[in-house]
Amino acid sequence: IGKGAERLNQRQWRRLARLAAHFLDVIQGLTTLKLFNASRREAENIARISEEYRHDTMAVLRVAFLSSLALEFFATVSIALVAVAIGFRLLWGDMDFMPAFFILLLAPEFYLPLRNMGTHYHARMEAIGAAERLVRMLAMASPPMSFEGSPVPDLARSTIRYRGVSVVYPDGTRALDDIDFDIRPGERFAIVGPSGAGKTTLINLLLGFVQPDKGRVLVGDTPLDALDPAAWREQLSWVPQRPHLYAGSVADNIRLSRPEASPTDVEAAARLAHASDFIERLPQGYETRIGEGGAGLSGGQAQRIALARAFLCSAPLLLLDEPTANLDRQNEGLIQTALDRLADERTLVVIAHRLDTVRSADRILVIAQGRLVDQGDHDDLLDRCEIYRRLVEDFAERV
Ligand code: ADP
Repeated sequence: IGKGAERLNQRQWRRLARLAAHFLDVIQGLTTLKLFNASRREAENIARISEEYRHDTMAVLRVAFLSSLALEFFATVSIALVAVAIGFRLLWGDMDFMPAFFILLLAPEFYLPLRNMGTHYHARMEAIGAAERLVRMLAMASPPMSFEGSPVPDLARSTIRYRGVSVVYPDGTRALDDIDFDIRPGERFAIVGPSGAGKTTLINLLLGFVQPDKGRVLVGDTPLDALDPAAWREQLSWVPQRPHLYAGSVADNIRLSRPEASPTDVEAAARLAHASDFIERLPQGYETRIGEGGAGLSGGQAQRIALARAFLCSAPLLLLDEPTANLDRQNEGLIQTALDRLADERTLVVIAHRLDTVRSADRILVIAQGRLVDQGDHDDLLDRCEIYRRLVEDFAERV
């Protein structure tokens, strides 16, 4: 019975994990569901799945209780047998009363471990169910990184070089194919290309989220994978397209890039990112609590908080994925001026989705389908690169 309960229990854990994943998907996609008027249908789905889950849990409990019952039953019958044997011996005068009574008192103790075994067996069963997934997770290979790497060269003087870099994702997608280019210190470097061209993958290589299959990325003369990862990350600041804000105060969210920063530094960073005006208008200013994912703030405001993070940590290399979502003109202008300031003192690598950014870039890299198409400044590329011309027309239409 115990083995049966164990099998059922493991199936139940798998189902619970699936239910939890489904629920998370629904919560994350709630906006989309709402837009397509499908939230009610999803709520019904979840209600149905939860009901099935309740039903199955009861089935597992039934078997689990049955196994406890069986153990209890045999323990009780055994105690009764001892009592009967003692009774007959007392009757026949083979035994005195005191030892007989003493043994009868001990009999339940004797069978106690058997009952405990039932409890422990169930505890073990639940642990195995939960551990199954943990073990799979623990067995996953972590990205190869040497943890005591070389010191990071000074980024104010070192060029970052991509040499023959190819990236193939585990599902076989070839995201980059034999890419060669340089990012020079202090440069404003823009990457453009149609969606799916491999722009994010280029940045993810620098962040250490993906590893090249062929070729390598060099910082100065040192390969990126030979650098001490913690020291390398200190040189980077990363503003993604939709920056993640955490539940907590606005100040905590800005301080994420430098937890020991003083309130004055936080405010200075917010001012540089043009975020101080709207923060000061919030009910409790910098101490206003915002929800998970920046609930309560507009896209442009969240973006400016993320830029304030970048101002606060003085990393010499800023990686930025511009928001594609339509920011209003005022927000766009403010973010642009904040970026201009940031770019003054550091190397800026932008995945550009806006005309203003590409125009002001020192150099633009055009990629399409994982291959490098061309690189140069705005005017050169406009002259000679068909794909670039089309992208620029797209940008212009969006304005
Ligand atoms: P972009 O940022 O230019 O839109 P990406 O670098 O995100 O392009 O993607 C390049 C290609 O790699 C696309 O074909 C995309 O579908 C694929 N890709 C991106 N990330 C993954 C991943 N984690 N697993 C598999 N394929 C991926």
